[in-house]
Amino acid sequence: MKVNIGRIKGEPGARMSVQRREDVGPLGEANPTGPVEIRADLVNTGPTLALSGTAKVPVTLRCARCLDELSLCLEAQLEDQYREAPGPPEEEELRRALEEEGVILYHGDEIDLRGPVRESLLLAIPMQPLCRPECRGICPACGTDLNRQPCECAAEAVDPRFEALRQLNVKNERPEER
Ligand SMILES: [Zn+2]
Ligand SMILES: [Zn+2]
Repeated sequence: MKVNIGRIKGEPGARMSVQRREDVGPLGEANPTGPVEIRADLVNTGPTLALSGTAKVPVTLRCARCLDELSLCLEAQLEDQYREAPGPPEEEELRRALEEEGVILYHGDEIDLRGPVRESLLLAIPMQPLCRPECRGICPACGTDLNRQPCECAAEAVDPRFEALRQLNVKNERPEER
């Protein structure tokens, strides 16, 4: 996902648009089913090159309740600042610049969007993906997929208030049992 920025990097105020469709690889629990579509602008602000735009990718995920596969489109905002380093930046330098100043260092006439794009898409993965809002999930006791059929456990589940009453009755009955 390398972008040649040679044309704008020496000229504050210069801008270019970036449109890409590229493979991004597996994204955590999400499996891309097509390329990532990037639409962004790069602007030379003087001290940095500011990237802003969106990244979209179709993925499959597992439903958090029933574990069925579901499809959705991840969409992330891209807001990144790139600053030229005097030489090829070391890993430690890259990390510090990002943590302390929020800038991504680059060297030469190319910036690589891959890392920031992956990062933004990973953050866009829902914490509790659901195949549908009313998904009933899997019975934790017997493992039945409750979307397909009910199970016995649900029928046996007792309202705790009735359970307390039943206990009480059991106690009262005891003397007569003898
Ligand atoms: Zn589900
Ligand atoms: Zn069950």
